[in-house]
Amino acid sequence: MVRFTVLASGSKGNCTVLSGGRTRILVDAGLSCRELFRRMKMAGEEPAALNAIVITHEHQDHVNGLAVTARKLGIPVYFTEATHRAWMRWLSPRRQMSYAQWLEMIRKQAAERQAEPAAQEDDLQVDPDEADVENSVPSAASTSSDPDLDPASDPAGGRPPSLKDEPTWLPAIEYFQAGQPFSIGDICISPFTIPHDAADPVGFVFSSEGVRLGFATDLGYIPPNVREQLRDLDLLLLESNHDLEMLRDGPYPWSVKQRVLSRVGHLSNDAASEFLAADYDGQAAYIILGHLSENNNLPELARVAAERALLGRASLLANRLLLAAQHEPLSAISF
Ligand SMILES: [Zn+2]
Ligand SMILES: [Zn+2]
Repeated sequence: MVRFTVLASGSKGNCTVLSGGRTRILVDAGLSCRELFRRMKMAGEEPAALNAIVITHEHQDHVNGLAVTARKLGIPVYFTEATHRAWMRWLSPRRQMSYAQWLEMIRKQAAERQAEPAAQEDDLQVDPDEADVENSVPSAASTSSDPDLDPASDPAGGRPPSLKDEPTWLPAIEYFQAGQPFSIGDICISPFTIPHDAADPVGFVFSSEGVRLGFATDLGYIPPNVREQLRDLDLLLLESNHDLEMLRDGPYPWSVKQRVLSRVGHLSNDAASEFLAADYDGQAAYIILGHLSENNNLPELARVAAERALLGRASLLANRLLLAAQHEPLSAISF
């Protein structure tokens, strides 16, 4: 059985559990570990059964609980290499040191780990020529202050370094690239590039047991490569972030409004609807609208826009419209 459970969706945290065959993965870890486990239990999912975490991009609402959750469960994290680097930079306390000092610290940590025979970890070196492209600057304290991590209970039996000393340490790191499908156990994953202001953001098509699930949030618009991917799906999770008028008249500073509206920002209700009306093939049993803004959208506005776009396509068997929420899990969808 294939099962898809959105635990949280929105700018305060994104997390989805996907099961296929004997494999269970978490897509993004934007809730604190404690809240993530709480919601998994609410949704009837067992945290200890997770096999891996797959990350779309390094924005805080997608990685907030990543280090703690991966350590606690002792499971690998799948990133693109650029996303992994951006995540490490975000977590490293470089605001108190120069970039050169920070690089030196990362290298020293990597060398120390290599010197330990037990440590088998990917090389954490950073290209010193890499441009400094940090754009969403959250507080690095949020993860390091999370009280959930208890190294003594590490299921792998190892002793990971403390979160405070090495906030970027993970039990295992696997790299993937947009355009190159890969598998985790019984789940096939096709990552594709999406236009968003992160280091190397991706959407996914997951397939397992002949069921195909599309995952596209955090994108400024829907370019042809994304349209191509979002075909022949059984389920589509699509961003419907903001109502244009609410955003324009709303409380955000102009610079933030411009960012959200840009080609690397977020999809409006109108943009999601345009896709559903003009480009979507109408095949999916479920369409889930996600990443709704709490300030610049209302669930009913998003729903009405999508319903209008799907008019004539809705039936008992296809295009059932659901809205993912920020503060509670959506009921599991099974195939
Ligand atoms: Zn996001
Ligand atoms: Zn984002």
